[in-house]
Amino acid sequence: MKFNYKKYRNLIFSALAVAASAAMIKYSMTQIDDAVYVSASQSDDNSQIIVLDSGHGGMDGGCSTADGIPEKGINLSIMLSLRDMCRLYGYDVVCTRESDVSIYDSGVTGIRNQKISDMENRLELFNRYPDAVCLSIHQNNYTDPKYSGAQMFYSGANSESERFAAIIQSAFVQNLQPDNTRETKLCGDELYLCYYCDNPAVMAECGFLSNPDEAAKLTDESYQQSVAFTLFTGINTFLNERK
Ligand SMILES: [Zn+2]
Repeated sequence: MKFNYKKYRNLIFSALAVAASAAMIKYSMTQIDDAVYVSASQSDDNSQIIVLDSGHGGMDGGCSTADGIPEKGINLSIMLSLRDMCRLYGYDVVCTRESDVSIYDSGVTGIRNQKISDMENRLELFNRYPDAVCLSIHQNNYTDPKYSGAQMFYSGANSESERFAAIIQSAFVQNLQPDNTRETKLCGDELYLCYYCDNPAVMAECGFLSNPDEAAKLTDESYQQSVAFTLFTGINTFLNERK
């Protein structure tokens, strides 16, 4: 009998996700992995490529909690869990960074030039694979600590990005934040990576580090995994509806 992988895929994934969640907690942000780029070239032609970006890294910490915990490590932790979930499910994943680094070209000097080079390299990966789906993971902050909740930003460069953002936004409402009434937002060129991406692209602001309650959750590993699973749900729904 031919095994119907598609039919049982959800079941298999649930089992694998449970088994994997324990292992995934063991990631350490201090792990150094020189392989910034994960080659997708060895994969078979039919696999769907997902490009994942964890915002900031290295000298660029991004925003931070009141206690000074930087966004970059939270983004990385969520991205690593999401990467593994996507791979378990059979997607081909390319990451902009898999450790605490900035990915500027060697030989580039000066913080400003290094930041430009870093963003150009991330964008090059977002646009390298014509049928890829791209997601950039960030955390938000604001001067008034009362604001909380995830919000998705999408680019106008690809007509599918708005629907991609809406699906992820509703996954957050469904899985984690039933009271979240935020609407998805069209981004401008200040969100460089998202704005200039030709593929369906979303920048996920997963929550506000300026809100003490949300910051406490976002710095917790099991909540980070729930966020990763929510992003996974969104990506998967988007791709399934697209077929
Ligand atoms: Zn950020």
